[in-house]
Amino acid sequence: MNVTKIREDFPILKKYVYLDSACMSLKPRQVINKINEYYNEYPACSGRSGHSLSNKINEEVYKTREIIAKFFSTRKENVIFTRNTTEAINIVANNFKRKNILITDKEHNSNLLPWQKNKCNIKVINSKKDNTFDIEDFKNKIKGTDLIAINHVANLDGVVNPIKEVIKIAHENKALVLIDAAQSAGHSEINFNKLDIDFMAFSGHKTLGPSGIGALIGKKELLEKIEPLNIGGGTVTDSNYNSFKYEDIPLRFEAGLQDYSGIIGLGEALNYLKKIGFDDIEKNELKLNKIITEELLSKVQLIGPEDYKLRSSIFSFNVNKFSALDIAGILNSSRNICIRAGAHCVHSWFNKHNLKGSARASLYLYNNEDDVRIFVEEIKKIIK
Ligand code: PMP
Repeated sequence: MNVTKIREDFPILKKYVYLDSACMSLKPRQVINKINEYYNEYPACSGRSGHSLSNKINEEVYKTREIIAKFFSTRKENVIFTRNTTEAINIVANNFKRKNILITDKEHNSNLLPWQKNKCNIKVINSKKDNTFDIEDFKNKIKGTDLIAINHVANLDGVVNPIKEVIKIAHENKALVLIDAAQSAGHSEINFNKLDIDFMAFSGHKTLGPSGIGALIGKKELLEKIEPLNIGGGTVTDSNYNSFKYEDIPLRFEAGLQDYSGIIGLGEALNYLKKIGFDDIEKNELKLNKIITEELLSKVQLIGPEDYKLRSSIFSFNVNKFSALDIAGILNSSRNICIRAGAHCVHSWFNKHNLKGSARASLYLYNNEDDVRIFVEEIKKIIK
């Protein structure tokens, strides 16, 4: 992988040291061009008008569903377009009212609040001391669970959960599994079929795609059993004043005119990632996380395990006496370094640990050694 060449597709990197991809990834010019292509060349509604502009976007949406399905090794019927991960999880949670739900103690609010709102009986798996997944605690709590909703990679500290093992044990105990793949999709391979995932959610804006588009991927037989969150235009084959007949899966879940430019932009983003390949993407992230960890581990209070190999592309930390917001502000004003500061929508974990938040640097395929050296240098200056 030639990072220098990749960076040419992200001109904004000439001005910024961007270390906030766990919040939102940058978008390559190919994705931006694809979005423009929609508005310039076929700015129409898919599947309803029958003229050539409408037929063209119809075809593009169809192709994108196939791209997503192939990307995650599943069938296109299983892919439902949503606004983001949050909406995808809400669709599932809305169908598990008052059920027994198992989560970890490190879930994003988007994989916590929907279960609370639907009055689920929530049990929480506690992480081990080093903040990695505790398989024993999981095994102790899985009995009687209807569904386990678990992040693949935690946005709090980058820890990768052993989803293959979790799914196997969950299924042995007749529990369904929802994978929150917001942080892993676009960073490592996820084979939906092989892993035997029941439901999965991800967002386009963290996978080089536009914001406002994501997907819920589900097994067809399960999607057939659940109700959409919104219904209306495009979700039925017929209606009367007192009744309606649902469209097939997945259309019944996609109410109203869709975010067509977002959909095709997402397809372009996944094609871009596929061309580069996950082996190289992961190698680059690990190489850079190793540098940050070796340089800063003894100088900051790290959140998560010391071994960078367990922390994917994230370095989450605090520096004595400084608030996370101070650190982010200083980095921004000194060298245009962008990181994230705060509770990262994981308030529950910070409350449990009596902490206010952390500063978080996160990496992706367009980051290089210069980026992390500048970041390390500035953190050392702050500490001094
Ligand atoms: N889950 C995780 C692990 C996340 O990191 C995020 C985004 N920070 C979400 C869910 C929510 O994603 P979105 O805001 O795109 O719905």
